[in-house]
Amino acid sequence: MRLIFLGAPGCGKGTQAKLLKKNHDLPQISTGDLLREAVRAGSQLGVEAKGYMDSGALVPDRLVISLLENRIDGADCKKGFILDGFPRTRVQAEALDTALEEKKTPIDTVINFQVDMEQLVERLVGRRVCPQGHGEWHIKFNPPGVEGRCDTCGQELIQREDDQEERIRRRFEAFQKDTEPLIGYYEGQGKLQTVEALGKIEIVSGQIEAVINR
Ligand code: AMP
Repeated sequence: MRLIFLGAPGCGKGTQAKLLKKNHDLPQISTGDLLREAVRAGSQLGVEAKGYMDSGALVPDRLVISLLENRIDGADCKKGFILDGFPRTRVQAEALDTALEEKKTPIDTVINFQVDMEQLVERLVGRRVCPQGHGEWHIKFNPPGVEGRCDTCGQELIQREDDQEERIRRRFEAFQKDTEPLIGYYEGQGKLQTVEALGKIEIVSGQIEAVINR
């Protein structure tokens, strides 16, 4: 099963990808997480990507595409994968199609997370993440067991640089300009399935299970 989760920043696709990963034993591939890891490790890629990420802009296609292509070559991706946050541009979508065509393993389904943009701002401004990469919570909708602390390692949760309001606006602009057109791209391939993404976590995951079991 090869899936793409497509949706605006903060629509909950990361949370849903983690749930699906657990229930179906599929690797979840988040280019955002891979890039943040590269930044933490201080690699060449991380150094190049950081400025774009902090400002809320997209990282250039050539960097993200090679990162993703290397990742889906991993042995754990033979049984399938969930792409979370990739592709984000038409160039990335076409590069992915080409890479998968060569292996004769096309994408099965693209899940389009439909949301109201105003509600999304509230979600993002309240999001807190573990500095060690153990996950994310929300001060109102999904608080950790101990206020302000990671449930896994107990470290103090932080707000991502790009979750500040003016950066959020910039990320939405990037989404509307570059990523939203992919809805039409995958509709044209007959692979698009839309879910209402701002409901409770279990309701959204129920919709996703229904779609992939169809
Ligand atoms: P995310 O955690 O998916 O919201 O990604 C955080 C940031 O990483 C984005 O705002 C972009 O700067 C960068 N990024 C992640 N995935 C991509 C992608 N597929 N293409 C370009 N930039 C990306």
